[in-house]
Amino acid sequence: MNKISIMDVSINNVTKAEAGEKIRNRLEKGGDGIFTIFTPNTEIVMLCNDDSELKRIINKGSMVLPDGIGLIYASRIKRLPLKERVTGFDTSVEILTIAAEKGYKVFLLGGAPGVAEKASANIRKKFGDIICGYQHGYFKGQHIGHADHQEERAIINRINDLKPDIVFVGLGSPKQEKWIDYHGNNLNANLVIGNGGTIDVLSG
Ligand code: UDP
Repeated sequence: MNKISIMDVSINNVTKAEAGEKIRNRLEKGGDGIFTIFTPNTEIVMLCNDDSELKRIINKGSMVLPDGIGLIYASRIKRLPLKERVTGFDTSVEILTIAAEKGYKVFLLGGAPGVAEKASANIRKKFGDIICGYQHGYFKGQHIGHADHQEERAIINRINDLKPDIVFVGLGSPKQEKWIDYHGNNLNANLVIGNGGTIDVLSG
């Protein structure tokens, strides 16, 4: 997939439909490792300027989508225009739609206590029984980057026991990207997406 660099952050130049198609294919066919989707907005790209680890993580994402109109404008100024804005929220809804159609299971991680639970109930009403579990994003002993830490390991084990195909990680930036980087390959799932406040919106 063609990528365009904005402030040294490589972003896929895809339409919403093209991103959806690529996700659908990956979910159907599988592949090596876990497929990681990051959805930076302008603020996150700016944050990468001061956080080289975040930049390194986003740049090795399997798919990096421009969730911010500012990124589209910046790409036009560079005369390497991105096709369109593709938000984390819209991409997540597309993933839920594909999951409902194909019978994939989704795990929700993130949001304040009670929020992922409400989001799960709303998703069940709209998309059917595709949520296999959820966990709020303020778990005790949050040690992003300590895969050997007891609480971190317990969460990974619980997610794996529930056998999701897809994991939503909404811990805000840069926490969610770092969590995905440290723990992504310990998840027995096909695809993981860092999707910011998506779980909050789905709970409303
Ligand atoms: N969040 C979380 N754990 C944390 C920090 C944030 O689960 O330790 C959740 C927060 O409740 C919200 C989401 O991350 O649902 C996105 O947070 P925020 O709006 O700060 O980030 P953004 O989407 O702007 O990157």
